[in-house]
Amino acid sequence: MKYINDINIAGRRVFIRCDFNVPLDENGNITDDNRIKQVLTTIEYAVDNKSKVILASHLGRPKGKKNPKYSLAPVAKRLSTLLDRRVDFVEDCIGDKVLKKVSSMKDGDIVLLENLRFYEGEEKNSEEFAKELLKLFDVYVNDAFGVCHRKHASVYAVAKMAEVAVGGFLLKRELEYFDKVLNSNKKPFVAVIGGAKVSGKLECLINLIDKADKIIIGGAQAFTFLKAQGYEVGKSLVEDDLLQTAKDVMKKAEDRGVKFYLPVDFVCAESVEDTLNYETKTYQEIPKDKMGLDIGDASCILFKEVINDAKTIVWNGPMGVFEVDVFANGTRNIAKAIGESKALSVVGGGDTAEAVEKVQESKNMSYISTGGGASLELLEGKVLPAVEALEETR
Ligand code: AMP
Repeated sequence: MKYINDINIAGRRVFIRCDFNVPLDENGNITDDNRIKQVLTTIEYAVDNKSKVILASHLGRPKGKKNPKYSLAPVAKRLSTLLDRRVDFVEDCIGDKVLKKVSSMKDGDIVLLENLRFYEGEEKNSEEFAKELLKLFDVYVNDAFGVCHRKHASVYAVAKMAEVAVGGFLLKRELEYFDKVLNSNKKPFVAVIGGAKVSGKLECLINLIDKADKIIIGGAQAFTFLKAQGYEVGKSLVEDDLLQTAKDVMKKAEDRGVKFYLPVDFVCAESVEDTLNYETKTYQEIPKDKMGLDIGDASCILFKEVINDAKTIVWNGPMGVFEVDVFANGTRNIAKAIGESKALSVVGGGDTAEAVEKVQESKNMSYISTGGGASLELLEGKVLPAVEALEETR
């Protein structure tokens, strides 16, 4: 697979598909610009190498209709500030107006097109929509890791149809870090898997059993594993249809000699809203009328031991309901332990990245992915469709 620095882009119209899907407050202000900052190196490289830079992205879920609430105009402003350069915003992403604007560009100019998802064709991977985008450029660059697990027109159909299609520096960084951890020979390799559901992480767990030396389970999915072993889990979240699957996963881990760590205590309450009457209980004593909402201190000590010993760590999924302060301790402690360890540590995007940011440990991780769904698919051992499309092109 080629990247933007492997080809000649001088004087050419370079279309960079970015992931500018940033959070906005009710007044349309950007509340976190990390996703914009992550692609600056690619944009600056394209400008420095005298290409005409056409940026495109999606934002939110406008469902194929124009909706000012999801306009990329605030992103153009922030980009201009971050780059300290002029960024022209175009109020559409295809059509004559856009073509006219693009044909008037000079080398080093930057334009940002309006939200790709204002057209149904984007999410439907429509060839017609892709053909409209193809009229705008000579070179296609994908730097939108967060959408690479989707077969959407601007990352899939376009990449397949473009004459020159390459990756950007963010995509390169993401793929390299995941490749480094998943194929690391620095052992022990510890996978920390949390979050809400076993079903969402099942393929990831199965793939990691073949790669990791130790697997730590946190979050609500621990209860499906505990119930499968016959323990009372009270009102905790459980996937009853996956009890046999949970047993099979534990058996597979045992057969492969992979150590499987479950929490040994939980912070329990009647509900997520019950933030005053919580209590910590061992896994043998979860009350019938309560649910486990975080891992307890003893689990943190146990997991910390395992993490301290690791040389490679991958983490996906919070240890508890980190969004609520009294149930965020487990996630905070595990983030701290991973941050303090000298291991190569890669953190999945989405909720996990948000949790690490919330507990202010981001700077201590080797790498935090910008894509939740895309990083999970890499942990599942899959090739991302949009990456496969780039690999297929010449
Ligand atoms: P996921 O997207 O699968 O990584 O799940 C993340 C979500 O899992 C977060 O919103 C957490 O609040 C939630 N979660 C983690 N632990 C628990 C728990 N013990 N009970 C209920 N929800 C949980």
